[in-house]
Amino acid sequence: MESEFRKIPGVDKVLADKRLAPLVKTYPHDRLVKLVRQRLEQERTAVAAGKKASALSKIAEAVYSQVKAMETPGLRPVINATGVILHTNLGRAPLSQEATAAMDTVARGYSNLEFNLDSGARGSRQVHVESLLRELTGAEAALVVNNNASAVLLGLTALAKRSEVIVSRGQAVEIGGGFRIPDVMRQSGARLVEVGTTNCTYSSDYEQAIGPRTVALMRVHSSNFRLMGFTSEVEIEELVALAGRHSLFVFDDLGSGCFLDTTEFGLAPEPMVQRSIALGVGLGFFSGDKLVGGPQAGIIVGRKQLMDKLRKHPLARAVRIDKVRLAGLAATLLHYLKGEATSKIPAWRMIAAPLNDIEKRAGKWAEALGGRARVVDGETMVGGGSLPGGTLPTRLVAIGDGKDRSLVQRTARKLRAREIPVVGRIADDILLLDPRSVLPEEDEIMLKALRELSSDFNRA
Ligand SMILES: *Cc1c(COP(=O)(O)O)cnc(C)c1O
Repeated sequence: MESEFRKIPGVDKVLADKRLAPLVKTYPHDRLVKLVRQRLEQERTAVAAGKKASALSKIAEAVYSQVKAMETPGLRPVINATGVILHTNLGRAPLSQEATAAMDTVARGYSNLEFNLDSGARGSRQVHVESLLRELTGAEAALVVNNNASAVLLGLTALAKRSEVIVSRGQAVEIGGGFRIPDVMRQSGARLVEVGTTNCTYSSDYEQAIGPRTVALMRVHSSNFRLMGFTSEVEIEELVALAGRHSLFVFDDLGSGCFLDTTEFGLAPEPMVQRSIALGVGLGFFSGDKLVGGPQAGIIVGRKQLMDKLRKHPLARAVRIDKVRLAGLAATLLHYLKGEATSKIPAWRMIAAPLNDIEKRAGKWAEALGGRARVVDGETMVGGGSLPGGTLPTRLVAIGDGKDRSLVQRTARKLRAREIPVVGRIADDILLLDPRSVLPEEDEIMLKALRELSSDFNRA
């Protein structure tokens, strides 16, 4: 035991090992010493527990790996072959080249973020997106904040604190990740009045609930589920008319917030922002990184009179958007104004991709896998809390016959363990890879991954 302790090398001896030579030259000395000490401490604990002392080479290697692991970014790109285009866990919308270029430029140096170049005086960061949003949606005013949850929180706090907001029971929903509309409303200090039943709410339900403390009727787009069967909800135009008769506003949480007509792509209709504004909602709220296809943001459009109150509220500062995402959002919005959204914005390119092209790519993927995969019919989900039940036809590359669960799990893990991880989806013990949620520019990476997987199979 005593002699086993004596086998543990000293700090200097570990530092002098040739395996650490590249680090000794480049890495801060005191940090490296600290890591070696920590490692040696673990060694002593292990020996005290009756284990054998590790060889010097093992100790040096462990320190080296620890430094390398620390230097590898935790957050890194992956290939999304899941077939969910706006995948919240995979970062939602991928950005256009123009958007990333704009973000890169602004990130590198100073900018006129809140500086009016004309007058030389302080300006507002909102001017960089407000006119684009007004032009696109027809709204009198626009405000961009951190994300849609904070947009809704700001709107309700600034306008409905200690007042009542009426919501249909069928819309008092949880969006995902624990974001519940009723909780956000409570947080804002607004009193939520739920009306109707889970499946049916009528105009008269709202009307009966209107009282002296009511400030708004709220619509929440049930973006991640669909009620089927015997259901009834009050359409937004009827809600606006009803609110108008009682001098109230309509707050419209659109969720995804879409500028294009999804039915033209064979999808279910998604509420369009322009339409809500044209119908006369007081405020519309939506995300920047769902169907808009831009960076994370919460976008509010609507009446100037209301927006001015939001702007002045202290919470507006607490949930403000940063300059980098503001630049990316402006570049993304410009694609819509230039009529090039479906050719430039990745999420829309995926939605608009012809099935023929998908089929060809799936064929090449399957070929790269040798005889180990088939091409089958499937469906791509738009995701991101938009288009509940809205899917697009696709062709999937299917690995496995549904009988060997562990093979499919191992294959999926192998693809995820790559330097650029590939994430697919597993259904009925078959690994499915969807080319629609992968950009054609990423096909080279994908083919390399599949070829290497195929030779792994051949070796096994
Ligand atoms: C996604 C969603 C939100 C939350 O938006 P974030 O940008 O993720 O904060 C709020 N409301 C609805 C209806 C949504 O679909």
